[in-house]
Amino acid sequence: MTDVSVIENQLSTNLFSNLSAHDHEQILVCNDNNTGLKAIIAIHNTVLGPGLGGTRMWNYNNESEAVRDVLRLSRGMTYKASISGLNLGGAKAVIIGDAKTQKNEALMRRFGRFVNNLAGKYITAEDVGTTTQDMEYVNMETNYVVGLPESRGGGGDPSPVTAYGVYVGMKASAKKAWGTDSLSGKKVAVMGIGKVGMHLLEYMHKEGAQFYVSDMNEAALKEAADRFGATVVANEDIYSTDAEIFAPCALGGIINTDTLSQLKCQVIAGAANNQLENEDIHGDMLVDKGIIYAPDFLINAGGLINVYSEWTGYNHENAIRDTERIYDTLESIFSVADEKGMHTQAAATHLAEKRVQDIMRVQSTI
Ligand code: NAD
Repeated sequence: MTDVSVIENQLSTNLFSNLSAHDHEQILVCNDNNTGLKAIIAIHNTVLGPGLGGTRMWNYNNESEAVRDVLRLSRGMTYKASISGLNLGGAKAVIIGDAKTQKNEALMRRFGRFVNNLAGKYITAEDVGTTTQDMEYVNMETNYVVGLPESRGGGGDPSPVTAYGVYVGMKASAKKAWGTDSLSGKKVAVMGIGKVGMHLLEYMHKEGAQFYVSDMNEAALKEAADRFGATVVANEDIYSTDAEIFAPCALGGIINTDTLSQLKCQVIAGAANNQLENEDIHGDMLVDKGIIYAPDFLINAGGLINVYSEWTGYNHENAIRDTERIYDTLESIFSVADEKGMHTQAAATHLAEKRVQDIMRVQSTI
């Protein structure tokens, strides 16, 4: 049953303007009083294939915030899949609530039934606030789920592959900045030593890079210092180090007017989604400052590539090989950005949208 009051109170006045603003196809509001499930599934675009995107469980301040998040994130998934050459569309789901106290088997299985009702138009996966175990619960109700454990034929945690893609993209960015893609001796500031950040340190360490790291997690900082000789700095000091490369691996929106005034790096290449607070303003500011920026939705696509491989029959080597293409794609984006005089995020968006439009034309032919 759909919770009519949610739709009336939060969506009715802005529903279609929200959907049409960024060309969304469909939004499904899911409510179940028995389990307490309140979820929103947004399908942005299915021209290239079924919409694949993780399920985020987050204690949003209000329902409008959840709607905004799911619309923004689902659109990003269309771009990520398109630029990575995958036959996938863009979608995302959010569950409103505290993952620590409100998540349980029944809630996730009820969510799985809503996913199943979409008959394959949406494929879900884990995201912030959901785990591989949760996807196993979802899988009890639907086959339209990826990110399952290896023991169940899945690809397991996608974070190591995401980190590998970031590493590969960082090397392509280094080549653009310094003419060589070697990271040997390069100083890299990594903000956020979580699942992706720690694996990224490992790849870069093997090449002889040096690190500044920041996080709130003391154990992660200690591990980074012990294993990789990283210098720990306070969260607010991570922007102003003398690092040549900045790798944001924690939050979105952290490239903004304030942080750009502090950054001394020549390259920004990291895993976080939606790094630019304002794509137009801060994309141009990056160009003005001469900073090479690796667009986030391309460089962090390794995880999506990994779960896509799961959808088509998981093969780790294929996922790694496809992730390595991020290097070449990034070089094309740098060329397009230079040719068209646009910032790299705009060039990547342009290429992603172009592929969707081209394939739409193919589909309209007999
Ligand atoms: P995570 O939660 O494991 O790690 C994030 C880390 O950032 C945590 O250790 C957290 O303590 C730290 N952090 C939070 N706020 C911080 C701050 N202000 N300063 C410094 N550190 C801070 O997440 P993850 O899976 O490693 O993902 C990192 C980023 O990459 C996220 O933005 C995520 O959306 C994005 N991403 C992840 C994947 C993936 O496969 N995991 C794929 C694509 C994009």
